[in-house]
Amino acid sequence: MLCQAASEMAIKVIVLDPQQNCPASSLAYQHMLGSFDDSTTVQEFAKRCGVLTFEIEHVDAATLEKLEKQGVECQPKASTVRIIQDKYQQKVHFSQHDIPLPEFSRIDDLEGAKKAGERFGYPLMIKSRRLAYDGRGNAVAKSEEELPSAVDALGGFDRGLYAEKWAPFVKELAVIVARGRDNTISCYPVVETIHRDNICHIVKAPANVKWKVRECATEVAFNAVNSLEGAGVFAVELFLTEDGQILLNEVAPRPHNSGHHTIESCYTSQYEQHLRAVVGLPLGDPSMKTPAAIMYNILGEEEGELGFQLAHQLMKRALTIPGASVHWYDKPEMRKQRKMGHITIVGPSLSNLESNLATITEEKASEDK
Ligand code: ADP
Ligand code: MG
Repeated sequence: MLCQAASEMAIKVIVLDPQQNCPASSLAYQHMLGSFDDSTTVQEFAKRCGVLTFEIEHVDAATLEKLEKQGVECQPKASTVRIIQDKYQQKVHFSQHDIPLPEFSRIDDLEGAKKAGERFGYPLMIKSRRLAYDGRGNAVAKSEEELPSAVDALGGFDRGLYAEKWAPFVKELAVIVARGRDNTISCYPVVETIHRDNICHIVKAPANVKWKVRECATEVAFNAVNSLEGAGVFAVELFLTEDGQILLNEVAPRPHNSGHHTIESCYTSQYEQHLRAVVGLPLGDPSMKTPAAIMYNILGEEEGELGFQLAHQLMKRALTIPGASVHWYDKPEMRKQRKMGHITIVGPSLSNLESNLATITEEKASEDK
């Protein structure tokens, strides 16, 4: 999607990806085959680029730091990748900048995990410090007895774990924040994100919350991004608690699933905004040009051919809905729960869009029978 936006701006994107037929390869100006976690590869790749940016934070931060010292333009900065890619370090950083967060603590062994349980209570969220995505680095212990199995599910203490107090949220919110090379900061409207099995499933824009909550969410997101270095778009994931408090969950220093709707619903999509930011152009208008938007992730329902068939049926129904746009990523393999594409519906109100979405998904439910 970054390559799609780039083509309209005549910006040539060279993609570094280890997979031969990765979705971006058909849209990119060039595709270099290789790992973004391998120092020599990243250094070779950098020689071909005017600006380095990334769509995944699990890149080789040490190499980016080295390249920056040699004068290579990295946006956002290597320091940001270093902080973000270790979730525990990320929490330490934001707490040092007075950003409200669920309480957390490092755990190195079962004794430490038990202590965290005594301190924070149960359920207790255990998280991997590194390489987590789509809920794949989280395990919940409902009681002290469940601690060993939660730790095992994440690959043991050697993987690097930490514990987080359970956030009793009523809603999850997110804000995309853009920062230009001139340090201008611009925030997109607050959205609500709805997760299924820890994976983002539906995004509603704008979030149906009180004005004061939107203001507070935007302020926390602004402050969080303001504490990091470099240009680009950043997604700030937030919890809204029953008493109206906003807590930061995590920040992704890149375009994000909670901003997919911006392609159809905002004057400047998150992808165009990211490109403008990293190459040093003025930022665009992040406001919505439609009253409401809903984004629905097409998640793999079944492995293989059956999964493709189900997704195609869903997309066919979506194409009959006015205001609906279908995005299919053309990932080579269908897997259960994998993000295969998404549908965005824009229209006059969230309630109108919710009933349109129900038509798409309920029809599917009845066809399944
Ligand atoms: P990922 O990198 O997989 O997005 P997150 O840390 O954002 O991991 O967690 C994924 C989801 O798990 C969140 O969106 C939220 O629904 C739930 N979650 C995460 N942390 C907590 C917490 N402390 N309390 C309750 N739920 C949580
Ligand atoms: Mg998350």
